[in-house]
Amino acid sequence: MDVKINNIRKEFGRFPALNDVSLKIASGELIALLGPSGSGKTTLLRLIAGLDFPTAGQIFFGDEDASHHSVQERNVGFVFQSYALFRHMTVAENIGFGLKVRPASTRPAKAEIRRRVSELLDMVQLSGLEKRYPNQLSGGQRQRVALARAMAIEPRILLLDEPFGALDAKVRKELRRWLREFHDRTGHTTVFVTHDQEEALELADRVVVMSQGKIEQVGSADDVYDRPSSPFVFSFIGESTQLPVELKSGTVLFQGEPLGITEAGEGPGQMFFRPEDVELSQAYDALSGKVTACRRLAGTRIAEIDIANHGHAPYHVEIEVPLHAPVELGSDIRFRPTRWKIFRG
Ligand code: ATP
Repeated sequence: MDVKINNIRKEFGRFPALNDVSLKIASGELIALLGPSGSGKTTLLRLIAGLDFPTAGQIFFGDEDASHHSVQERNVGFVFQSYALFRHMTVAENIGFGLKVRPASTRPAKAEIRRRVSELLDMVQLSGLEKRYPNQLSGGQRQRVALARAMAIEPRILLLDEPFGALDAKVRKELRRWLREFHDRTGHTTVFVTHDQEEALELADRVVVMSQGKIEQVGSADDVYDRPSSPFVFSFIGESTQLPVELKSGTVLFQGEPLGITEAGEGPGQMFFRPEDVELSQAYDALSGKVTACRRLAGTRIAEIDIANHGHAPYHVEIEVPLHAPVELGSDIRFRPTRWKIFRG
């Protein structure tokens, strides 16, 4: 089922939690809503689910205007981080619950419910555990039961709010891979909320980066990491350095001095680059600073550098340097970005 979100606004009192949000989700896509706390991710997910309604704008499920339809009418499945299973019900009873409570006219026969539950157990790889109670399962198994329960009603779209948030890092990673495979097998349109960029970049077909109730960028992991469209996205995803620069007749000036890199345009801007996108340089027209710390990573090193700033606090920059490059604590170092982006103004 494809979903179209048109110019959604959501106010709580006078506070706009979402402000003119538009998004098209293709049928079968796996979409991550990524952003800092308070950016509006959960609000958007709840509006798609029908747990809340927009102040303005529409939500279409296919050609149907679902903006004011209830959760049941929309037929969505959702899983929340804290979405507790029913403790007094077995795994099988939990999964079958949504079917069992349907009105008699649409409720499947008992044997059919049993068949569907066993199919779902198989799908989430929990066959054999159907008689267990939630407190006899691991956290990861419980989340898989929650997913199976959401899937049981054959939802048109699956909505997950930080589904792995409460789990430890290792289980989280396993479930992440598992969810990707599960999605590829079942092909459900899926939207999940996360504030973990690694999770979003690894899992999603497209990542929706949100900030302050607005969508900043929508794109693949490569798009948002390699081609961030705004200063916010550049600094929110991955590591980066930001320096104020001036463009003058095709050259880039920092503190009035040329940097040995070129870019068309005139006037002030903010230059962003990533630690891995620099090279050490002996040239006079390069950035220069003092090494204040040096950390060894697996195959490389990170040098922390302070660039003097005319009596103000120095600019702090982190760059990746080759393992055997002569970089010494307290010494001066010269380097240049090899890839950068300048946002004008
Ligand atoms: P987190 O990652 O912390 O869950 P989020 O990106 O999901 O954050 P939302 O929960 O969507 O953010 O909240 C967006 C903004 O709307 C926040 O400033 C929040 O305080 C506000 N908000 C959310 N729900 C309500 C509500 N029911 N009443 C008033 N304000 C609300």
